[in-house]
Amino acid sequence: MTTATPSTLESLNPATGESIGSVPITPAETINDVVSRGREAQVAWGAMSLTERINLIRPAAEAIKARSNEIGALMTSEMGKPIAEGEGEVDYAAAGLPGLLDSIASALEPEHLDDGRTETDLYYDPFGVCGVITPWNFPFLMPQQTVIPALVAGNTVVMKPSEETPLVGQAFADVYNEFLPEGVLQIIHGDEAQGKALVKSDVNLIAFVGSRAAGQHILESAGGDLKRVILELGGKDPMIVLDDADLESAADFAAMNSFRNCGQVCVSTERIYVQEGIANDFEQALLERVKDLKVGDGTDTTTRIGPMVSQQQKEMVLAQLETAKQQGATVAHGDVPMDGNYVAPTVLTGLDHSMNIMRDETFGPIACVMRVKDEGEAVKLANDTPYGLGAVVFGSDADRAKGVARQLTAGMVGINQGCGGAKGAPWVGAQQSGYGFHGGVHGHRQFTQVRIVSTPKD
Ligand code: NAD
Repeated sequence: MTTATPSTLESLNPATGESIGSVPITPAETINDVVSRGREAQVAWGAMSLTERINLIRPAAEAIKARSNEIGALMTSEMGKPIAEGEGEVDYAAAGLPGLLDSIASALEPEHLDDGRTETDLYYDPFGVCGVITPWNFPFLMPQQTVIPALVAGNTVVMKPSEETPLVGQAFADVYNEFLPEGVLQIIHGDEAQGKALVKSDVNLIAFVGSRAAGQHILESAGGDLKRVILELGGKDPMIVLDDADLESAADFAAMNSFRNCGQVCVSTERIYVQEGIANDFEQALLERVKDLKVGDGTDTTTRIGPMVSQQQKEMVLAQLETAKQQGATVAHGDVPMDGNYVAPTVLTGLDHSMNIMRDETFGPIACVMRVKDEGEAVKLANDTPYGLGAVVFGSDADRAKGVARQLTAGMVGINQGCGGAKGAPWVGAQQSGYGFHGGVHGHRQFTQVRIVSTPKD
């Protein structure tokens, strides 16, 4: 949790409430100057070849790897996730960087078309300056997935990390700036006010990861100038457990993905639809796993669930839980009061779709299990939200599970596993979970302006 003073943003450890450091807030009225510096730097950066830019960025992988323990520990003390997950996030970013750079390079190579009458060269050019605005739940990985495609494409970047994780955001910028020319990657600090000022500034492209409400506001604000926007937003991911599913692995997945990072993951399992015939056994298997989840300070290596990022986030989750109970949900496990920013992992049953908790994003450690009579009902309910980020289907008949998957409105569906795809697959939210996306050939190209130059063929 952080508190803002007029000139500094103080970062508080959500497990202890203690201050762990601060950063200067960037006055909103100076953000245009920051963007102007980015525009000056873009001239030389954009004139480099793809290979030259990539060669400058590539050594950052080793530097990130060398600092993964330090930055992972900082992440745990700044936003609460268990230490292995914090270090794991930074290691994952380091390990993934070379492949990410190679896949962007191949996606952005110019193309040549020839129809016998006209020859056309197709270029993936930079837009100019890109504003990147990111959340706190994956405070190293989210900047990496948006800043790197923007930079490699030849844009310069002004990034604004979440006000909840300014120190990890600063560590991200510092490690990359060891390798980048001045002005290519700049960081500003602050909250929504700085985010809004960055959107209103002279940037050409906004790459945003965060809530649906903020995304709607950004789209509206950027629309006046027809700025390009890439919005990766929240979700309400369903899990469908078919009656031929392997119950042990379905329960393992549900327990892991409902509670990982204290439920503060955009693709957390927020709703579970289980066929009636296997519902008792599935619920039993899930409850057995949830009662073993240890809640505590993320620095303790036995902790599975850390604190929520802030008191405000805790209050939002508890308010949703209270409403669900008033609307008739049954608490099958959890819902015990906890001190500080902790929330007990909770399992709700006896649910139906008139309840808000089945349709609004929770972003907390609550698993909602609802019984359905068949896969048709499961699909109908799974699609009954404005969101469309991820979804999972558990079932042992591959054709049947895939048939269910193809009826879901989510952008990413996993069968008997999480929703993230193979290397090279995009990270894509459908419906109101996304407007544009990153990753894969199609995602990388969204950070570029396509241009063509054609000549007649003799
Ligand atoms: P948030 O929208 O409150 O804030 C995200 C960032 O936007 C912060 O840096 C904040 O300061 C800034 N901001 C807020 N309002 C703004 C506005 N009107 N204009 C410009 N900037 C603004 O989200 P959060 O609480 O930090 O993160 C949690 C949300 O992010 C959840 O909804 C989660 O699902 C989503 N998320 C999505 C993905 C994805 O890949 N789709 C990944 C991670 C998180």
